[in-house]
Amino acid sequence: MLQKREFYIDGGWVSPAQANDFEVINPSNEEPCAVITLGGEADTNAAVAAAKRAFWDWSATSKHERVALVERILAAYQARIGEMAEAISLEMGAPVDLAKTQQAPAGLGHIQNFLRAVKDFEFERPLGDHAPDTRILYDPVGVCGLITPWNWPMNQVTLKVIPALLTGCTMVLKPSEIAPLSSMLFAEMLDEAGVPAGVFNLVNGDGAGVGSQLSGHPDVDMISFTGSGRAGTAISKNAADTLKRVHLELGGKGANIIFADADEKAVKRGALHCFNNTGQSCNAPSRMLVQREIYDDAVETAAAVAKSTSVGLAHEAGRHIGPAVSEMQYNKIQALIEKGMDEGARLVAGGPGRPEGLNRGYFVRPTVFADVTNDMTIAREEIFGPVLSIMSFESEEEAIKIANDSAYGLTNYVQSEDGEKRNRVARRLRSGMVEMNGKPRGAGAPFGGMKASGNGREGGVWGIEDFCEVKAVSGWGA
Ligand code: NAD
Repeated sequence: MLQKREFYIDGGWVSPAQANDFEVINPSNEEPCAVITLGGEADTNAAVAAAKRAFWDWSATSKHERVALVERILAAYQARIGEMAEAISLEMGAPVDLAKTQQAPAGLGHIQNFLRAVKDFEFERPLGDHAPDTRILYDPVGVCGLITPWNWPMNQVTLKVIPALLTGCTMVLKPSEIAPLSSMLFAEMLDEAGVPAGVFNLVNGDGAGVGSQLSGHPDVDMISFTGSGRAGTAISKNAADTLKRVHLELGGKGANIIFADADEKAVKRGALHCFNNTGQSCNAPSRMLVQREIYDDAVETAAAVAKSTSVGLAHEAGRHIGPAVSEMQYNKIQALIEKGMDEGARLVAGGPGRPEGLNRGYFVRPTVFADVTNDMTIAREEIFGPVLSIMSFESEEEAIKIANDSAYGLTNYVQSEDGEKRNRVARRLRSGMVEMNGKPRGAGAPFGGMKASGNGREGGVWGIEDFCEVKAVSGWGA
């Protein structure tokens, strides 16, 4: 079993102030694969103090120096990307091929995209010709607490650490205690790249401990959080006393509107997307809205996709989906599948229990419900498992109304061969992102949501601005 009890504070690996062992569980076999320490107040304070000390020098560095550091981090990440994929696969159960082709490369892509976005980012800008002696400065926010989830661990961590570094912030990262190994490897990469002491610190811990200590800390200027709405609310309340900025990336319940004139692969593509990463993606298209004319065919196609989606161990090569991350997630998914059946949705694939032949591990059957109505629990709550809910609609207006009738507003999807119609629908959807006809968002496009999906935007220029304070200066010397 891996021994990973130390924290990265003030430029080196240090022992925790107090022992408090916590086992990281391999979700494929339910056995511990590593032991970490859950930190306490003394560890949090040491890390915040180091970040505060380092801020004076780091915030005064040039863009050129900060870019050079991130370029060295990029090289370190590239050199160890295989190890990164293995760490992610072990800790959260992504099958190795998914970890190699999607999970680990997501972090690499963000580092590259931020380097591209910062190239033209002006940290000092004139206000305009009408006010020649006024300058707008983009200052670093200060000491940042970065709190991340387990489902796309390096995706989330790089979306926070890299812009924080590029803007001149210093930081304490608290990764998910369920999936801390990838972040500890990332800390090794930052160390190899020569991050100055105190600029980046990592303390493992849980939400009630290190998480709350960071959100309530008087010397932390901003919390950037990705995770559940429950924790987002707790963090916002706890941060209020110190009036710190809180940036939230929360859950989703994406609608995938499939019109009768959609391309023939739209339903299959939507179902596969919903099951990807075992359904554990905040932007999963988990509500499939299908126009009446093609509804019966769509249900049949989606059920066939679920039945042909194999489920298997994370360390085995192949295109199967892996287990859910934890016993808690497994139980939550099972309860919601039961709820769907109780509330009258029609089960057309999958269902409760483990897939055949898998008696250990948190494996879930890819499941499809048809005839779902938007007031059912499975249409309202984020399931975070491979469970697709299908419902029908008649008109464009009805589809938009169903899609928007959700507490969440992260990503919605539209499928139609009619470009005018797609654009009309995209304008009316209340979500931070709309993806249409299977086209991915361009590199550097902002990621984030409305309503219960949060308030920030990560990635690209918007992700850099999120770590800045805007300062207006008059009387600027010519
Ligand atoms: P979680 O909220 O339980 O935990 C996320 C992180 O917050 C962990 O590091 C945890 O230790 C910490 N935490 C928990 N309670 C806390 C508290 N009171 N104070 C401070 N920190 C606290 O979420 P999870 O189960 O790890 O992740 C799944 C959730 O994340 C899903 O709801 C998913 O939709 C969401 N998510 C959102 C995005 C996005 O960008 N919108 C991306 C990925 C995941």
